Amino acid sequence: MTETKGKSAVPLLGQKCPNCRKRATLEFRPFCTKRCADVDLGRWLNEDYRIPGDENISNEDGVYDEE
Ligand SMILES: [Zn+2]
Repeated sequence: MTETKGKSAVPLLGQKCPNCRKRATLEFRPFCTKRCADVDLGRWLNEDYRIPGDENISNEDGVYDEE
């Protein structure tokens, strides 16, 4: 008797892939497939690369006339 278990994607109840909203699988949770995990990782890295550099400029001319 051969029971094939393990390698096929095991769907996780109640957890949805944040990328495509399909059911997440145990192997790639919280995603459904490696593809979705890769997509999300790529997106994440992209955002990480985009370093905000223009937001720190306007502090040199701080004119405070409050006192
Ligand atoms: Zn997905």
